[in-house]
Amino acid sequence: MELEEFREGLDAWLDANAALLAAHHEGAGTLDEQMAHLSQVKRETFDAGWMRYGWPTEVGGLGGSTLLRAYLGEALAARDLVEPGIYSMTEVLAPTMIDYASPELAAQMVPRLLRGDETWCQGFSEPDTGSNLASLACRGVRSDDGWHVTGQKVWTSLAQYAQRCVLLVRTGTVESAHRGITALFVDMDTPGITVRPIETMHGVEEFSEVFFDDVVVPFGRMLGEEGQGWAVAMDLLPFERSTALWHRAAFLHQRLRQILDSAGPGTLDPVRVGEVTQLLYAFRSRSRSTQYRLHDGERLGAETSIDKVLVATVEQAVFDLAEDGLAESITIGDDPLSARWRSEFLYSRAATIYGGSAEIQRNIIARRLLDLGNDL
Ligand SMILES: Cc1cc2nc3c(=O)[nH]c(=O)nc-3n(C[C@H](O)[C@H](O)[C@H](O)COP(=O)(O)OP(=O)(O)OC[C@H]3O[C@@H](n4cnc5c(N)ncnc54)[C@H](O)[C@@H]3O)c2cc1C
Repeated sequence: MELEEFREGLDAWLDANAALLAAHHEGAGTLDEQMAHLSQVKRETFDAGWMRYGWPTEVGGLGGSTLLRAYLGEALAARDLVEPGIYSMTEVLAPTMIDYASPELAAQMVPRLLRGDETWCQGFSEPDTGSNLASLACRGVRSDDGWHVTGQKVWTSLAQYAQRCVLLVRTGTVESAHRGITALFVDMDTPGITVRPIETMHGVEEFSEVFFDDVVVPFGRMLGEEGQGWAVAMDLLPFERSTALWHRAAFLHQRLRQILDSAGPGTLDPVRVGEVTQLLYAFRSRSRSTQYRLHDGERLGAETSIDKVLVATVEQAVFDLAEDGLAESITIGDDPLSARWRSEFLYSRAATIYGGSAEIQRNIIARRLLDLGNDL
């Protein structure tokens, strides 16, 4: 299906099915409520076909350009039907499964993620491993029955809801750094896994510590080959900074419009409004070209760090503007809408950390795109 036809058909379907897709909670709702709503929206859009466009037929998709997926997330975020952060796991993890899992495993698992029957999480970061991912220590030891995994992950978003985890483990020596890492697709109900949610400053248990105590993962659950985990991670991260960020732009556009509609007279500096609008459109323009590069079949890489720097900048600028225009709501409002503004304002501070910190993205841009060398 072509983009224009998809756009028109989807918009009409979303209008006609507004009641079916509506959340059962007010404001932001709790994370439990948001997760239930996400499953509801994914199930309805999958069963109606929309969620299946842009994905290969081998994994339950209906084919077509990745632009169709980009528009679906945009339309859902613009209507406040999904929160783009929790929706993003689909865009981040499904392409990795398609590229690196065995075809049988991908065909079995990906439709469950697309339909919202399952939640997946991404187990990369550890207490001493964030920016320096190559130093990760969670250990995988080869045995007759599979990999035996022991160690800890942290900041694992949505782990307490997840049925599966894309996990990076060290299978080589510590000195092997990025060469000794293997990616595994782990069932979260395997004996030996303990998940302990952590509350963020916006008052939501969005991520968790995850402990692995001699957890057995069959060899058939390797993503790629032994020692190929770094390649899996390097291919996954650009997905975290491409279509998922296009969806985020739609969400930010929606919030900017709501700030302009709701701010009290004289509370917003027109110059600041202009600057924020300019930042948003600069990011959308950048992300649009990234969507077209994906559509053209290009492999994304370090250049998506530019997208990440831009989106983090505009996200914080939009919510700084909300703080100017809706100060009372954000600071003391106790109605559901105020609680949502407050929660989103606080969460926007994380935009320069998750998916790779702003400093690390700038290092990548300087070294790998501008060839400025290592001595910065
Ligand atoms: C909301 C949220 C959700 C997340 N979800 C997940 C998830 O689902 N799965 C997952 O695996 N991880 C997740 N993370 C973790 C995230 O990927 C890491 O927090 C991030 O990569 C930074 O790592 P760190 O926290 O260990 O900080 P560190 O790497 O310790 O960095 C601390 C500070 O030092 C700076 N710094 C570090 N090294 C350098 C350098 N070489 N040059 C310049 N500055 C440097 C950083 O920019 C940062 O400001 C999440 C984080 C957040 C905030």
